[in-house]
This record gives sequence, C-alpha cells and structure tokens, in this order.
Amino acid sequence: MPRFVFITGGVVSSLGKGLASAALGSLLQARGYKIRLRKLDPYLNVDPGTMSPTQHGEVFVTDDGAETDLDLGHYERFTGVDARKSDNVTTGRIYSDVLARERRGDYLGATIQVIPHVTNAIKEFVTSNLDNEDFVLVEIGGTVGDIESLPFLEAIRQIGYEMGHDKTCFLHVTLLPFIEVAGELKTKPTQHSVKELQSVGIQPDILLCRSSENIPEDLKTKISRFCNVRKEAVISAPDASSIYEVPLMYHREGLDMEICRHFDLPLNEPDLSVWHDIMHRMTNPEGTVNVAVVGKYTSLIDSYKSLAEALTHGGLDNNVKVKMNWIDSEVFEGENADFSSLTSADAVLVPGGFGQRGSEGKINAIKFARENNVPFLGICFGMQMAVIEAARNLANHSDAGSTEFGPSENPVVGLMTEWTSGNSQVVRDETSDLGGTMRLGAYDCVLKAGSQVMQLYSTPQISERHRHRYEVNIAWRDELESQGLIFSGLSPDGSLPEIVERSDHPFFIGVQFHPELKSRPFDPHPLFRGFINAALKRSRLV
Ligand code: GLN
Repeated sequence: MPRFVFITGGVVSSLGKGLASAALGSLLQARGYKIRLRKLDPYLNVDPGTMSPTQHGEVFVTDDGAETDLDLGHYERFTGVDARKSDNVTTGRIYSDVLARERRGDYLGATIQVIPHVTNAIKEFVTSNLDNEDFVLVEIGGTVGDIESLPFLEAIRQIGYEMGHDKTCFLHVTLLPFIEVAGELKTKPTQHSVKELQSVGIQPDILLCRSSENIPEDLKTKISRFCNVRKEAVISAPDASSIYEVPLMYHREGLDMEICRHFDLPLNEPDLSVWHDIMHRMTNPEGTVNVAVVGKYTSLIDSYKSLAEALTHGGLDNNVKVKMNWIDSEVFEGENADFSSLTSADAVLVPGGFGQRGSEGKINAIKFARENNVPFLGICFGMQMAVIEAARNLANHSDAGSTEFGPSENPVVGLMTEWTSGNSQVVRDETSDLGGTMRLGAYDCVLKAGSQVMQLYSTPQISERHRHRYEVNIAWRDELESQGLIFSGLSPDGSLPEIVERSDHPFFIGVQFHPELKSRPFDPHPLFRGFINAALKRSRLV
C-alpha cells in the first residue's frame, strides 16, 4: 500500500497548489521513490473539456485520452510520470458514476446519500488504479470552506482515519499576506483556514505558507502554536523567480525532509542535479529570441500553459531566453491589418483553437511567415489554417475553408466522422455530444523518410496526443504537395494527415497533434527544440 499525501488549499485560490504538489513529487522522486500525482476537482462539470479556456485555463490531454485539469500538465512536466484518466476526477464524474450505478440497481434498494455513497466513490477513485507507487500525492482543488469540496474532504478524512498516520499525511497550503501599512506578514488568515480544516476533522501535519518573502522564525512559532503543527513543519514558501526554482526552494525550506520525517523514512540528501542544471540554464541564457504567438485567448496566458512551457523548454535546450508576444489574431484582419509585430518576430506560432473568430487573421499571419521566411509552427488548428492558406494562396482555391465554420463549398478541413482507435472504429456525426467526443489522446504517426520532421524526431514512427474534431482531407495531398506543402506525417493507415511541412522554407511545420503536452524541462520536445533553433538562426540573420 502506498503512502498518501493529501494537499489542500486555504485562504485564497491561485496559491500554486498544483505547482507545490508537482514540485513535492519531483523531490520525492529525487529521493528514489516512485510517485503518482492525482487531482480531485470539486466542480460539477464531468470533465473540463467543455469549459472555456479563458475561465479555467487549458485542457490538458493524457495519453489515454482524458481531458483533464491543467495541473496535470505541471505534474507531468515536473516528474515525467505520464498522467492517466484515473488521475483526475470531478464532482460531476463522481455523481454521474454513482447515479449510473443507482440506475443499474447496484445499490440493492439503499437510499443513496453523499455519505457513504459519494464519499465511497471518491475513496475508491483515490485508492484504485495504482502501480506499486511509494507515494500518491492527491491534490484537492478549490479552497477549504467551499461548499463543493466537503465530500472530498470527508473522503480524505476517512482515508486518513482508516489507514492511519504512518500511511497518510495532510499538507495544507496557505497564504501569509503582507500588509503594506503595517510592514508585516499576517498569520490570522492561516489560523482561520486551519480552523476550517479542523472543523471537518482534518488536522494538517505540514503547513506550506505562501508569502511574498521568507517567514521569520517568530511567526513560524506563532503559527505552530495556534495551528497545532510542529514548528519544523511550518514551511516558508516565498514567491519564486521561475516555477522551475520551486523544487530547489521547497527543498531548501525542508518540505521533503518533513514528509520523510512524518513517514519515518531516511533523511539522506536527494539528488537534485537535474533541477540545478535547469536553473543554471534558465538564469544564464546566451541570448533572447522573440516568438509571436498568434491566437485567440491571449488575455489569459493559462489558456496556453503547456505551450508557454514547451517554448521555454525549447529555449533551455538552445541556451536562450524565449520572449513570447501574445497577439490577438484579429489585428491581422481587414484593411488596416498591421503586420509590424510579425516583422520584429524571430518566429511565428499559431496554436490550437476553436471557432471561426480570428481564423482569417491566423491565415494572414501564416501567409506572412511563409512569404518572409519566418520560422513557423502551426499546432492543430494552426496546422489546419496553414493548409487552408496554401489551398487559397498557392493552389488558387479562394473559397477553400473548414466545415468548422459552417458549410463550405471547398472544404480542405472537414468534420472527422470515422477513425480507428486501437482495434475499434469510432464514428461521429454533426449531432454527436460536444463533451468527450473529439479524437483524444495518443495516436501513432508515420514520418516520411528524408523529411525535416524525421530529422528532428530521429525516428520513423512517433506517438503524439490529439484533441480535435476536424481533419485535413487527404484528397488534397497531391495538389498541395505540387505547391510545396509536403504531407510528411500520416496516420499508420495513411488516411489522416498528421504533419505538413515546406522544404523551401527554413522552418515551416504544421502538426495536427499537440506536441506541447509532452515537453519537459529536462527533455524538451524535438519540435520545440528545432523551432527555437530556427528562431535563433533568424535572430542572428536580421
Ligand atoms: N477546432 C479544431 C478541431 O476541432 C482544432 C482543435 C485544436 O486546435 N485543438 O479540429
């Protein structure tokens, strides 16, 4: 049976609980332990797949095709452990499972109640689908005191009671606000938040106190007394210069040590050389490249979380800092379209997206990158727009479009109605539900010999994660290839275009999948490596 660490949050949201969980995971790995991270989300959506990225940030997709919370992206980036469907659950999913069982008659006439039926389903989720891990870190979304989190807190309280102190640990992340006029950090909100947690029967073992600066010893003593937590377990967690500094910082403050002490494990020094190396590269770049990201949800950068991280990883690999200029694609539309922001860019990236708004601007930005030899990477929607751009401007089909925008006379991109997943055939039509019905998760792709992508990946077959409903129609291949747009990656059966590229351009690649989801700071994705390298070459040219 693994040890469970439950991570709750108090005082306010956005304290970086997900990052803290991910960083703790990496510290335990550095001590040689096998870990898994999980997230329990209290909202009612069955999954975040249908939520607007501007409200909830990006949807992170796992290899096994789950649409999950963006914190799972942090977990993967910090630990390299691929998350699975069984690592993220919402209240909506729990209730829909409980209700399905009730309809089937599984409860044999019982009255279905939050306790025990819902809490049992949560406990089952937390403790199933494990793989001999030493530690399972379970983050509970939201803030203690939210009505929605109560069943989750009750479930983890019960697990704590049943498994005992030597198998479970409760870590509470709180905030010590700095009050300008008093010139002090304040402990009261933390005291209240711990009381709230105690009122549902949970006594935290460790407090991770977020603040703008280090917490002085006397405040730690005060928190310790009021909250019933050993002083050494009151951990200072000041703001970090970069998220990749967090593991080193929390180690310095004694977080992993405290966990080991709690479980009576050896207190030897972990090997943190990977993180030291990443931070060294991060703080000593040899130059800067400017990447224009032409998208739609540019007001909330969390919408493109994994993308921003993957670009940073590409920078780490090339020893440069990547400056991202988030541009709303609509500025490239209409008579007053202004391309000056692209003239000064070393590379242009058009990320994934949904819907017609802003698509013309994306197509115009791609045309600019193609004609001016600016390195270009198109991801999912970005690839689809690159193909439409070629059909319109090179193959002279001015009416070329996507059926995502309504009926099209000349659809280059159309609704995917059938594809193979494992051994089965998936079928969809216009009337299918929107939730959970896209082509999701890992699919193989065969690369064309001699292509640029083959050179970048250095292998003939790859597996990448997908999240899309539309696809480029393979029937356009010959015509577009005669215009220099090479279909250099295809599904193994040859029916679905996965990658397009141009050989007459320094770097022009569009991919139907989301490479950003698989990039790690210690293992940057080949496409982002190559893209930033091309940007670097251009920055030295101009
Ligand atoms: N909207 C497009 C589709 O569904 C692209 C999706 C994406 O970029 N993830 O195919």
